[in-house]
Amino acid sequence: MHIKSCSFCNEKAVYRRKYSGESLCTECFKNSIVEKTKKTISKYKMLKYGEKIAVGLSGGKDSSALLNVLNQITKSHGSKLYAITVDEGIEGYRDESKFLAEKMCKSMNVPQIVVSYDELFDFTLDEALKPDNRKSSSCSICGPLRRRAIDLAAQKMNADVIATAHNLDDSLQTFFMNLFNNDLPRLSWLNPLSSGFKADIRRIKPFMDIYEEEIAYYTYLMKIDFQIEDCPYQDESIRSEVKEFLNNLERLHPGIKYSTFSSAMKIAQKSSELTKKDRIKCKKCGQLSSQPLCSVCKTINIVNDSMEIYASDQ
Ligand SMILES: [Zn+2]
Ligand SMILES: [Zn+2]
Repeated sequence: MHIKSCSFCNEKAVYRRKYSGESLCTECFKNSIVEKTKKTISKYKMLKYGEKIAVGLSGGKDSSALLNVLNQITKSHGSKLYAITVDEGIEGYRDESKFLAEKMCKSMNVPQIVVSYDELFDFTLDEALKPDNRKSSSCSICGPLRRRAIDLAAQKMNADVIATAHNLDDSLQTFFMNLFNNDLPRLSWLNPLSSGFKADIRRIKPFMDIYEEEIAYYTYLMKIDFQIEDCPYQDESIRSEVKEFLNNLERLHPGIKYSTFSSAMKIAQKSSELTKKDRIKCKKCGQLSSQPLCSVCKTINIVNDSMEIYASDQ
């Protein structure tokens, strides 16, 4: 069989990028991920010289790859990298990822901060999900809490920017879920630059232009050790359906995820302009929100209420 050679050098190709028609060897593929990330960062002016960057590091594939790539990119930028790991309090699941995240930070000499739901919100995720009288899914409870945990940790260490590892697939799935949910304000969350809990910390997604499959292949080629096991509470069935639908389309029409993402970005931009004036300060924590109580404070209330009802029933 004829082995195709790399489109950029004479080495043997290991990856074919269907949407662009390129074949890439190991080194060129690795470089392409680093270069794509750099391009996204400069295109959206995500980072400035010398900034303090807090990377959300779960120990999973995407966030481990992000720390690895940013560690290569930011050295010449005078930036200082930190990792924030959130311990949601999931017995028997978090230990492995926490261990891997810690090992990774040590090997790169990146300071790591670990924050837990228990210390921040006074309950672990296990405790919060124990009562089964709640209507919300586990992910819709955990998501806002994790976002707030990272915000609070970043604020405490005076970070200028929070980097999270959302890839193109994640963002596109979330976009469709918000569309299905008739949640216009949240469509704008797709914007490349948004602010965290306090407006002075920016939130960036340096992997937003990269397919999940390519991040996965990058971690494989870089031999990055990450946790494979899925969260035991994962229950977003619509997300998996959307994911499957989009991946099927991509198989038949390479590049369609990318073009859909570009349209989604434009819609996000418009919806952000439309909903900006409706934003008010959450009456409990002060975060900008489309409702009197922000999604985090609402979630904390739901959890506390369901735990109270559960306790009085026992
Ligand atoms: Zn090559
Ligand atoms: Zn709030």
